[in-house]
Amino acid sequence: MRPPVPSLSLPCAAIAMCVLLSGSATARGEWVDMRTVDIFEIRSEFSLNDDVGQALLTEFQRLRDDVESTLGLEASNDLIEVNLFANRGSYQDFLSVRVPEGVSRVALFVKGTDRGRVYVYRHRGYETDVRHECTHAILHNALPYVPLWLDEGFAEYFEVPASERATGHSHLNSVRRAMYLRWNPSLTELESRSDLTEMSGSDYRDSWAWAHYLLHGPVESRQVLSNYLYDIRIGNPAGMLSERLAQNVPGVRSQLTLHFKNLK
Ligand SMILES: [Zn+2]
Repeated sequence: MRPPVPSLSLPCAAIAMCVLLSGSATARGEWVDMRTVDIFEIRSEFSLNDDVGQALLTEFQRLRDDVESTLGLEASNDLIEVNLFANRGSYQDFLSVRVPEGVSRVALFVKGTDRGRVYVYRHRGYETDVRHECTHAILHNALPYVPLWLDEGFAEYFEVPASERATGHSHLNSVRRAMYLRWNPSLTELESRSDLTEMSGSDYRDSWAWAHYLLHGPVESRQVLSNYLYDIRIGNPAGMLSERLAQNVPGVRSQLTLHFKNLK
Protein backbone atom coordinates (compact mmCIF):
# COMPACT_ATOMS: atom_id res chain seq x y z
CA MET A 1 0.00 0.00 0.00
CA ARG A 2 1.08 3.49 -0.67
CA PRO A 3 2.55 5.16 2.41
CA PRO A 4 0.62 7.91 4.19
CA VAL A 5 0.28 10.98 2.06
CA PRO A 6 1.16 14.32 3.64
CA SER A 7 -1.78 16.68 3.80
CA LEU A 8 -0.59 18.92 1.01
CA SER A 9 0.33 16.07 -1.27
CA LEU A 10 -1.62 14.45 -4.03
CA PRO A 11 -1.24 10.89 -5.24
CA CYS A 12 1.13 10.05 -8.01
CA ALA A 13 0.74 11.72 -11.34
CA ALA A 14 1.44 10.44 -14.78
CA ILE A 15 1.84 13.47 -16.98
CA ALA A 16 2.17 13.27 -20.71
CA MET A 17 3.85 16.50 -21.66
CA CYS A 18 6.70 17.94 -23.60
CA VAL A 19 9.36 19.18 -21.24
CA LEU A 20 13.01 19.89 -21.66
CA LEU A 21 14.94 18.36 -18.83
CA SER A 22 18.68 18.38 -18.93
CA GLY A 23 21.80 18.53 -16.84
CA SER A 24 23.48 15.97 -14.66
CA ALA A 25 23.39 17.88 -11.39
CA THR A 26 20.52 17.86 -8.94
CA ALA A 27 19.12 20.97 -7.34
CA ARG A 28 21.27 20.32 -4.29
CA GLY A 29 24.31 18.55 -5.59
CA GLU A 30 25.64 15.73 -7.72
CA TRP A 31 24.03 12.35 -8.06
CA VAL A 32 25.94 9.95 -5.86
CA ASP A 33 24.77 6.72 -7.48
CA MET A 34 24.15 6.22 -11.19
CA ARG A 35 23.32 2.89 -12.79
CA THR A 36 21.68 1.46 -15.86
CA VAL A 37 19.51 -1.63 -15.48
CA ASP A 38 17.60 -2.84 -18.54
CA ILE A 39 16.08 0.33 -20.01
CA PHE A 40 16.20 2.22 -16.73
CA GLU A 41 18.81 4.93 -16.25
CA ILE A 42 18.82 5.38 -12.52
CA ARG A 43 20.39 8.34 -10.80
CA SER A 44 20.11 8.78 -7.10
CA GLU A 45 21.03 11.30 -4.43
CA PHE A 46 21.66 8.40 -2.06
CA SER A 47 23.54 5.14 -2.33
CA LEU A 48 21.58 2.14 -3.51
CA ASN A 49 23.95 -0.26 -1.80
CA ASP A 50 21.64 -0.87 1.16
CA ASP A 51 19.20 -3.80 1.27
CA VAL A 52 16.26 -1.81 -0.07
CA GLY A 53 18.32 -0.37 -2.90
CA GLN A 54 19.77 -3.73 -3.86
CA ALA A 55 16.33 -5.36 -3.86
CA LEU A 56 15.02 -2.52 -6.00
CA LEU A 57 17.84 -2.91 -8.50
CA THR A 58 17.01 -6.59 -8.80
CA GLU A 59 13.40 -5.73 -9.48
CA PHE A 60 14.38 -3.30 -12.21
CA GLN A 61 15.77 -6.30 -14.05
CA ARG A 62 12.38 -7.97 -14.25
CA LEU A 63 9.72 -5.25 -14.09
CA ARG A 64 9.50 -4.72 -17.86
CA ASP A 65 9.30 -8.47 -18.47
CA ASP A 66 6.62 -8.77 -15.78
CA VAL A 67 4.46 -6.05 -17.32
CA GLU A 68 4.94 -7.36 -20.85
CA SER A 69 4.24 -11.00 -20.06
CA THR A 70 1.31 -10.26 -17.75
CA LEU A 71 -0.41 -7.90 -20.17
CA GLY A 72 0.72 -9.47 -23.44
CA LEU A 73 2.43 -6.27 -24.52
CA GLU A 74 5.79 -5.40 -25.97
CA ALA A 75 7.34 -2.19 -24.73
CA SER A 76 9.88 -0.24 -26.71
CA ASN A 77 13.52 -0.01 -25.71
CA ASP A 78 13.20 3.73 -25.13
CA LEU A 79 15.15 4.72 -22.06
CA ILE A 80 13.36 5.55 -18.85
CA GLU A 81 15.17 7.94 -16.55
CA VAL A 82 14.60 7.29 -12.86
CA ASN A 83 15.45 10.19 -10.54
CA LEU A 84 15.66 9.34 -6.84
CA PHE A 85 15.91 12.12 -4.28
CA ALA A 86 17.20 11.98 -0.74
CA ASN A 87 14.17 13.71 0.73
CA ARG A 88 10.99 15.55 -0.12
CA GLY A 89 12.64 18.98 -0.02
CA SER A 90 15.23 18.03 -2.59
CA TYR A 91 12.53 16.45 -4.79
CA GLN A 92 10.44 19.61 -4.65
CA ASP A 93 13.43 21.86 -5.33
CA PHE A 94 14.26 19.84 -8.41
CA LEU A 95 10.71 19.71 -9.74
CA SER A 96 9.92 23.34 -8.98
CA VAL A 97 12.14 24.51 -11.84
CA ARG A 98 11.49 21.60 -14.21
CA VAL A 99 7.97 20.26 -13.65
CA PRO A 100 6.33 22.76 -11.28
CA GLU A 101 2.88 21.28 -11.79
CA GLY A 102 4.17 18.06 -10.26
CA VAL A 103 5.60 19.51 -7.04
CA SER A 104 2.54 18.66 -4.94
CA ARG A 105 2.57 15.02 -6.05
CA VAL A 106 4.22 12.35 -3.94
CA ALA A 107 5.78 10.79 -7.02
CA LEU A 108 5.73 11.53 -10.70
CA PHE A 109 6.02 10.07 -14.17
CA VAL A 110 6.48 12.48 -17.05
CA LYS A 111 6.33 11.29 -20.62
CA GLY A 112 8.79 13.48 -22.49
CA THR A 113 9.37 13.68 -26.20
CA ASP A 114 12.74 11.96 -25.85
CA ARG A 115 12.19 9.61 -22.91
CA GLY A 116 10.03 8.92 -19.91
CA ARG A 117 11.11 10.31 -16.56
CA VAL A 118 10.26 9.09 -13.09
CA TYR A 119 10.69 11.18 -9.93
CA VAL A 120 10.54 9.65 -6.47
CA TYR A 121 11.92 10.77 -3.12
CA ARG A 122 13.22 8.48 -0.41
CA HIS A 123 10.85 7.68 2.40
CA ARG A 124 9.67 4.52 4.08
CA GLY A 125 8.28 2.34 1.31
CA TYR A 126 9.59 4.51 -1.53
CA GLU A 127 10.28 1.39 -3.56
CA THR A 128 6.50 1.01 -3.99
CA ASP A 129 6.40 4.45 -5.62
CA VAL A 130 9.30 3.49 -7.87
CA ARG A 131 7.54 0.34 -9.11
CA HIS A 132 4.29 2.28 -9.55
CA GLU A 133 5.80 5.12 -11.60
CA CYS A 134 8.03 2.81 -13.62
CA THR A 135 4.95 0.75 -14.51
CA HIS A 136 3.41 3.92 -15.96
CA ALA A 137 6.60 4.48 -17.92
CA ILE A 138 6.64 0.93 -19.32
CA LEU A 139 2.95 1.11 -20.28
CA HIS A 140 3.56 4.35 -22.14
CA ASN A 141 6.51 2.72 -23.90
CA ALA A 142 4.15 -0.02 -25.08
CA LEU A 143 0.96 1.82 -25.99
CA PRO A 144 0.20 5.11 -27.79
CA TYR A 145 -2.13 6.04 -24.93
CA VAL A 146 -3.47 4.43 -21.78
CA PRO A 147 -6.93 5.23 -20.37
CA LEU A 148 -6.46 6.98 -17.03
CA TRP A 149 -8.25 4.42 -14.86
CA LEU A 150 -6.41 1.52 -16.51
CA ASP A 151 -3.08 3.33 -16.25
CA GLU A 152 -3.60 3.70 -12.51
CA GLY A 153 -5.13 0.24 -12.09
CA PHE A 154 -2.12 -1.46 -13.66
CA ALA A 155 0.34 0.80 -11.80
CA GLU A 156 -1.33 -0.12 -8.52
CA TYR A 157 -1.22 -3.78 -9.50
CA PHE A 158 2.51 -3.80 -10.28
CA GLU A 159 3.56 -1.51 -7.43
CA VAL A 160 3.95 -4.40 -4.99
CA PRO A 161 6.69 -7.04 -5.34
CA ALA A 162 5.85 -9.78 -7.84
CA SER A 163 5.15 -12.35 -5.15
CA GLU A 164 2.42 -10.14 -3.65
CA ARG A 165 0.55 -9.11 -6.79
CA ALA A 166 -2.05 -11.87 -6.86
CA THR A 167 -3.10 -11.88 -3.21
CA GLY A 168 -0.84 -9.57 -1.20
CA HIS A 169 -1.89 -6.01 -2.05
CA SER A 170 -3.49 -4.09 0.79
CA HIS A 171 -6.25 -3.04 -1.62
CA LEU A 172 -7.54 -6.58 -1.25
CA ASN A 173 -8.41 -6.04 2.41
CA SER A 174 -10.00 -2.73 1.52
CA VAL A 175 -12.15 -4.44 -1.12
CA ARG A 176 -13.19 -7.10 1.37
CA ARG A 177 -14.22 -4.43 3.88
CA ALA A 178 -16.11 -2.55 1.19
CA MET A 179 -17.96 -5.71 0.18
CA TYR A 180 -19.64 -5.72 3.59
CA LEU A 181 -21.06 -2.34 2.59
CA ARG A 182 -22.38 -3.47 -0.79
CA TRP A 183 -19.30 -2.52 -2.74
CA ASN A 184 -20.39 -1.92 -6.30
CA PRO A 185 -17.66 -0.18 -8.27
CA SER A 186 -18.78 1.31 -11.55
CA LEU A 187 -16.31 0.88 -14.39
CA THR A 188 -18.28 3.43 -16.40
CA GLU A 189 -17.68 6.03 -13.69
CA LEU A 190 -13.99 5.23 -13.57
CA GLU A 191 -13.85 5.60 -17.35
CA SER A 192 -15.42 9.05 -17.05
CA ARG A 193 -12.48 10.36 -15.02
CA SER A 194 -10.36 12.44 -17.33
CA ASP A 195 -8.01 14.04 -14.83
CA LEU A 196 -6.10 12.75 -11.82
CA THR A 197 -7.70 15.42 -9.65
CA GLU A 198 -10.97 13.55 -10.19
CA MET A 199 -9.51 10.29 -8.87
CA SER A 200 -10.30 9.58 -5.23
CA GLY A 201 -8.57 7.02 -3.06
CA SER A 202 -11.41 4.58 -3.61
CA ASP A 203 -11.10 5.17 -7.37
CA TYR A 204 -7.49 3.99 -7.20
CA ARG A 205 -8.59 0.92 -5.25
CA ASP A 206 -11.44 0.19 -7.64
CA SER A 207 -9.21 0.65 -10.67
CA TRP A 208 -6.86 -1.88 -9.08
CA ALA A 209 -9.82 -4.20 -8.46
CA TRP A 210 -10.96 -4.13 -12.09
CA ALA A 211 -7.38 -4.65 -13.26
CA HIS A 212 -7.00 -7.59 -10.86
CA TYR A 213 -10.28 -9.11 -12.04
CA LEU A 214 -9.30 -8.71 -15.69
CA LEU A 215 -5.94 -10.40 -15.07
CA HIS A 216 -7.00 -13.13 -12.67
CA GLY A 217 -10.71 -13.54 -13.37
CA PRO A 218 -12.60 -15.56 -16.00
CA VAL A 219 -10.86 -16.24 -19.28
CA GLU A 220 -13.52 -14.40 -21.29
CA SER A 221 -12.82 -11.18 -19.37
CA ARG A 222 -9.13 -11.65 -19.89
CA GLN A 223 -9.76 -12.04 -23.61
CA VAL A 224 -11.76 -8.80 -23.70
CA LEU A 225 -8.82 -7.00 -22.06
CA SER A 226 -6.37 -8.57 -24.48
CA ASN A 227 -8.42 -7.48 -27.51
CA TYR A 228 -8.82 -3.99 -26.04
CA LEU A 229 -5.09 -3.52 -25.52
CA TYR A 230 -4.43 -4.88 -29.00
CA ASP A 231 -6.76 -2.31 -30.56
CA ILE A 232 -5.13 0.51 -28.61
CA ARG A 233 -1.71 -0.71 -29.68
CA ILE A 234 -2.46 -0.84 -33.40
CA GLY A 235 -4.52 2.35 -33.44
CA ASN A 236 -8.02 0.90 -33.86
CA PRO A 237 -10.80 2.87 -32.15
CA ALA A 238 -10.87 1.10 -28.78
CA GLY A 239 -13.98 2.66 -27.24
CA MET A 240 -14.90 1.84 -23.68
CA LEU A 241 -13.81 -1.38 -22.06
CA SER A 242 -17.03 -1.38 -20.01
CA GLU A 243 -19.07 -1.66 -23.20
CA ARG A 244 -16.98 -4.56 -24.46
CA LEU A 245 -17.32 -6.35 -21.14
CA ALA A 246 -21.09 -5.80 -21.10
CA GLN A 247 -21.31 -7.36 -24.57
CA ASN A 248 -19.05 -10.33 -23.90
CA VAL A 249 -19.29 -11.16 -20.19
CA PRO A 250 -22.87 -11.50 -18.92
CA GLY A 251 -23.27 -10.19 -15.38
CA VAL A 252 -19.75 -8.82 -15.29
CA ARG A 253 -20.37 -6.74 -12.15
CA SER A 254 -21.52 -9.87 -10.27
CA GLN A 255 -18.53 -11.71 -11.69
CA LEU A 256 -16.26 -9.05 -10.23
CA THR A 257 -17.73 -9.50 -6.76
CA LEU A 258 -17.62 -13.27 -7.07
CA HIS A 259 -13.99 -13.07 -8.12
CA PHE A 260 -13.03 -11.38 -4.85
CA LYS A 261 -15.29 -13.58 -2.74
CA ASN A 262 -13.53 -16.64 -4.09
CA LEU A 263 -10.02 -15.22 -3.88
CA LYS A 264 -7.99 -16.99 -1.20
ZN1 LIG B 1 -0.07 6.45 -10.84
